[in-house]
Amino acid sequence: MGIFEQSQIPLNAAIKAMKLDDGAAAIIAKPEKTTEVNIPVRMDNGKTKVFTGYRCQHSTVMGPAKGGVRYHQNVSMDEVKTLAFWMTCKCAVAGLPYGGGKGGIIVDVRELSDGELERLTRGYIDKIANVIGEKKDIPAPDMNTNAKVMGWMMDEYSKITGQFEPGFVTGKDISLGGSLGRAAATGRGVVTAALEALKVKKIKAKGATCIVQGFGNVGSWTAKLAHDAGFKILAVTDVYGGIRSDDGIDPYKLEEHVKKKGSVVKFKGTKEIKNDEFFAMDVDVIFPCALEGQITKDNAGEIKAKIICEGANGPTTPDADVILDKKKIMVVPDILANGGGVTVSYFEWVQNLYRYFWTEEEVIDRQVKLMVKAFAEVHAISQEFKVSLRVAAYIAALRRISVAMRFRGMY
Ligand code: NAD
Repeated sequence: MGIFEQSQIPLNAAIKAMKLDDGAAAIIAKPEKTTEVNIPVRMDNGKTKVFTGYRCQHSTVMGPAKGGVRYHQNVSMDEVKTLAFWMTCKCAVAGLPYGGGKGGIIVDVRELSDGELERLTRGYIDKIANVIGEKKDIPAPDMNTNAKVMGWMMDEYSKITGQFEPGFVTGKDISLGGSLGRAAATGRGVVTAALEALKVKKIKAKGATCIVQGFGNVGSWTAKLAHDAGFKILAVTDVYGGIRSDDGIDPYKLEEHVKKKGSVVKFKGTKEIKNDEFFAMDVDVIFPCALEGQITKDNAGEIKAKIICEGANGPTTPDADVILDKKKIMVVPDILANGGGVTVSYFEWVQNLYRYFWTEEEVIDRQVKLMVKAFAEVHAISQEFKVSLRVAAYIAALRRISVAMRFRGMY
C-alpha cells in the first residue's frame, strides 16, 4: 500500500465515526491540483542536470494552500500528495484559515554546492510561480530546506511578480519578515502537546523520561524545550546513529557537539544505541521527530512508552496504530502535535500582510494557547466518539472543512 493510500485509513475511520456526508468525503479524498516540473540546473562543473519537483494543493476550501517544500532523494508525487493532505487536516485541527499544500524536489542536498542549491531553488520557483502566491499557496521549510532557501524563494518570486513578496513564503529570516519564535515553533508545539498528554495520563512533567528520534529542526527544539520543561532525555538518534545515557542527555550541549561533528554520534558520556533498542526503551514519552514510517507493525509490539508524541509527519503506520491502541499507548498524532510550525507560519504571514511585527512573547503566548485549545478539543472528541486521538483529530478537522464546503456550495 502506498503512503497516500495508508494516510486515508484514519481519515476513513473518522468519516465513518462522524457519519460525514458522502459529498464531503469524496472531495477530501482527492487533492485539488498537482503539478510536476522538471528543472534544468547548470552545475558547477559546467554540465546541466535536470531535477524533478512537485507541488500539490490538496485543498483550498478553508483558505490558500499552506505547506513546506522538501528536498530529499526519496521525494515522490505520492509522498507530496500525502504531506499536502496532512497539511489540510493539520491547519483545520488548529483552526487556521488555510488549506493544505506541499512541495518537494528529488535531490540529495549533500551532493550540491550552495550555488547549485540556489539555482535549483530559483528554477523550482520559476516553474511553479503560476500556481503559488500569497493568496493561493504559501510555501515553507521542510526537510533539508531552511530560512536561507526560503530567502532565495522569496527573492525569485519577487523578481517574477515585480513587487516585494514577503507573504508568499514563511520560515524566512527575521531580516526578510520572518517571525520571532518560528525556528522553535514546531518543537514548542510538540512539547506543549506532550505536556497536555502527560496531564491526561497523570504523569508529572518534572522527571518524566523521554527519547527523541531526529535532531534537526523539530528534534533539537523538542529536546531543548522538553529539557526546559523538566523531562529527562535518555536517548537521541539521527540518520548517522544513536546515543543513550541513563543520567540524561543535555540537549544544549548535544547541539554544540552536533555543530562541530555533524551528528549526535559519540557525544561525551553516552553509549551507542541501535534503532530497534531505541524504540523499545522503557520511557514515558517517545518523540519521533525524523521521518515517516518509523513505528511499524515490526517494532510497535516492543514499545513500552506511555505516550508517543509525533513531531515528524506520519512516523507511525496504520498497522502499528492498531497494536499501540490495543496496548493503550496514547499516540498524540502528527496533525495535532506538530501543528506548531504552521501555526507560527500563519502568524508570520499575518505579520507580513500588515507589515507589523509581534514580540517573541506574543508569538509564544498565542501559539501555546491555540495548541492547548486544539488538544482539549481533540481529546474531548476522542472521549465522545470513543476513538483514538488520531481519529479524533481527523474528526475535528473534517467538522471544520465540511462546514466550509457546505457554505461554499461544494456539495
Ligand atoms: P531536518 O532535516 O531539520 O531534520 C531531520 C532529522 O532527522 C535529522 O537530524 C536527521 O539526521 C534525522 N534522521 C533522518 N533519517 C533518520 C533515521 N533514519 N533515523 C533517525 N534519524 C533520522 O527536518 P525537520 O524539519 O526537523 O523535520 C523532521 C520531521 O518533522 C519531518 O517529518 C517533517 O515533515 C516534520 N515537520 C517539520 C516541521 C518544521 O517546522 N520543520 C513542521 C511539521 C512537521
